[in-house]
Order: sequence, then structure tokens, then C-alpha cells
Amino acid sequence: MYRKLKVGVIGATGMVGQNYLRLLSDHPWFEVVYLAASPNSAGKKYTDAVAGRWHMKSDIPEKFKDIVVEDAGMVEKAVGKCSLIFSAVEMDKQSILTVESEYAKQGFAVVSNNSAHRNTEDVPVMIPEINADHLDIIPQQQKKRGWSKGFLVVKPNCSIQSYMIPLYALMKAGYKIDKMIVTTLQALSGAGYPGPAAIDLVDNIIPFINGEEEKSEVEPRKIFGKIQNGKIVPDEGLKISAHCNRVAVTDGHTACCNIQFAGKKPEMNEIINIWRNFSALPQELKLPSAPIPAIIYRDENDRPQPQKDRDAGNSQAITVGRLRKCNVFDYRFIGLHHNTVRGAAGGSILTAELLKAKGFIK
Ligand code: NAP
Repeated sequence: MYRKLKVGVIGATGMVGQNYLRLLSDHPWFEVVYLAASPNSAGKKYTDAVAGRWHMKSDIPEKFKDIVVEDAGMVEKAVGKCSLIFSAVEMDKQSILTVESEYAKQGFAVVSNNSAHRNTEDVPVMIPEINADHLDIIPQQQKKRGWSKGFLVVKPNCSIQSYMIPLYALMKAGYKIDKMIVTTLQALSGAGYPGPAAIDLVDNIIPFINGEEEKSEVEPRKIFGKIQNGKIVPDEGLKISAHCNRVAVTDGHTACCNIQFAGKKPEMNEIINIWRNFSALPQELKLPSAPIPAIIYRDENDRPQPQKDRDAGNSQAITVGRLRKCNVFDYRFIGLHHNTVRGAAGGSILTAELLKAKGFIK
């Protein structure tokens, strides 16, 4: 009989953790059997641990209600129960580095949402449509650390997916992008619950998100990089300047992008065709969470919009629109994706599906 892979979620009581449980409740390949959070939640049934702070639109899936939450720091509690850990804990950077490495050392495949390991040179930062080949560094990561079975991969910052996949589609078609200016309009859910105070948000825009602009400028280079001598060497060719703003939208990060090509540049029709016909390994492998198509190009001059487009492709698709010539760079366009699905739990689940399909998780 076909058996699902047993998985755990650490940080299961938080905003991202709740999204994992919502998305994994009927997953065809994965079965959640282990939930962990802070010592405050440990020992409680899941339903009691999230009482008064369940933020999903659908109810807590019945099957998770009675699972007793463990302390995420007590790694031994997970041993023997599952082989894959989705990490959505919010702790100080050093504690996350320690706890995630400990899970990997104990033999778990760890797929993390946190930024702590994104600059670790042998830890891939995954957008499955772009850098599936970066998973090939896993044996080197294991050898270097003496881990026999476990390993670590992470997902990037939640603000970059809406333009990274469209940029990659153009690169895959043979065009080199020299520079980009991006202005993001980022949803409240990206700040976790409760996020900024309501009085700061109504009738307002907050033009600062701590650390976000730096991540938006640095992480794309690693994702477009190449494995060399046991490290992922960033692509230093692409220059990005980012402005990141928090806006009063519940879900869905929007990015206004201006791009300039190096060398030959495509015509506008060709760009739209490239985006509409783009397909990558997750689509070719028909991974359960892979959106088909991966990129949706909207012709209307008032799209994409968070309310109308964030749930496209089960909230995993990237929607782009308003491609037009730019008076300063070559072109400009708007990208949008669902930040807590494609930008967080959903992007990690797609990565885990890729890991399983490529045989990294048995
Ligand atoms: P959150 O709502 O604050 O949830 C944090 C989780 O971490 C809770 O389950 C909490 O458990 C647990 N936790 C806190 N202290 C802990 C400790 N000492 N030991 C073990 N577990 C502990 O945060 P979130 O918004 O879900 O974000 C989780 C992670 O994902 C963060 O690293 C964040 O940067 C990243 N992320 C978030 C988003 C987003 O859209 N929100 C997007 C991408 C990435 P208790 O409930 O027991 O306190």
C-alpha cells in the first residue's frame, strides 16, 4: 500500500505554521504527525495551544486538534516520528541556527522559512522553478558537517517571488538582465500576527521593513548563482535596488519593477510569450503544489491586484501585468504573489515535493 511521508512542523502555532497545517491537511504525499512550538505551547493539545489565535479562514483541521504540541527545542521528541521537518519558528538568529542544525544532525530533512541560514554558503535558498540544481549541493553539505542523512534547505524572503520567476523565465530564454529597480507593496500578513499597530496602517503606508531591502538585493544573486567547490557562488552580475513598503493589504505582495537588459533585448510581445509559455521542473514533474501555468500574464491595464489575483493557481502562481516600455530602463511591469503561500509555507511545500521527487527524501 502507498504510504505518505511523515512530516513535522516546528513553529506550528504561528502564522506560517498555521498555513502549513491548512495546506498539508489533505496533501497527497505528506502526513503531518509532529507539531512543536515554544515551551509555552508544549504539552497542550494543538487546539488549546492556538485558542484565540487561529488566523486561517478555514477551521483547524480535525486531524490536528488533539495532537500534543512538543517543545521545538527538544529535538529528540521528533526522532522516530517523521523524516521531514518544516521550520517556521521565530527565535533569535543563533537559536534558529542551532535548533535547525540539530534537527538536520539527527537525520531530518529540514525545509526552513527563516532567514537565519540563507547566507550559509552550502545551504540552498530555493525557488523550485529556478534553482532545482542547487539541491545537488546536499551531499557536500552532509559530508562537510558529518550528517549521515539529514540536511538543510531554506526558502527566500517572501517579497521576491513575484519578480524572480518572471526574471528567470527571460534569462532561461537567453536574455541577460543587467539591473532592476523594484518597489514592493507588502501585505500585513508578512509581518506575522498582530503585525504593525492599526493606527499606523489606516490611511497610511510604512516605507520601511527592517532588513527587507537588503534581503531583496542579496538573495536573488544566490538563487541565480552556481555551485562551485562546495559553495553556492552568487551571480554578481545582476544589480538590484529595492524599496520595500508595508501597505494595508491582508495578503499578496505586489512588486513594481523596472528592468534593463545587458546586450540584446526582447520585444514586448516576445516577453509576454516567454512568460505565458514558461514551464520548469516542478511543472514538468507535475508536483502536487506546482501551479500550471507558473506565470499568468494579465492583459487588463488594472491587474494584477491582490484581491483578485493572489489566489491564482491555488495561491502558488505568479501574476504579472502592465508590461510597458520604460523611459529610463528598458521595460517596467507589475508582479504579484501570495506571500504566506508561495512566499512562505506553500513555497516550502513545493520545495519538499521537489526534494522527494528527486530522491533526497526517502
Ligand atoms: P509567529 O506567528 O510569531 O510564530 C512563531 C512560532 O515560533 C510560534 O509557533 C511560536 O510558538 C514559535 N516559537 C517562538 N519562540 C520559540 C522558542 N523559543 N522555541 C520554539 N518555538 C518558538 O511567526 P510567523 O509569522 O509564523 O513566522 C515564522 C517564521 O517564518 C519567522 O522566522 C519568519 O521570519 C518567517 N516568515 C514569515 C512569513 C510571513 O508571511 N509571516 C513569510 C516568510 C517567512 P508559540 O506559539 O508557542 O509562542
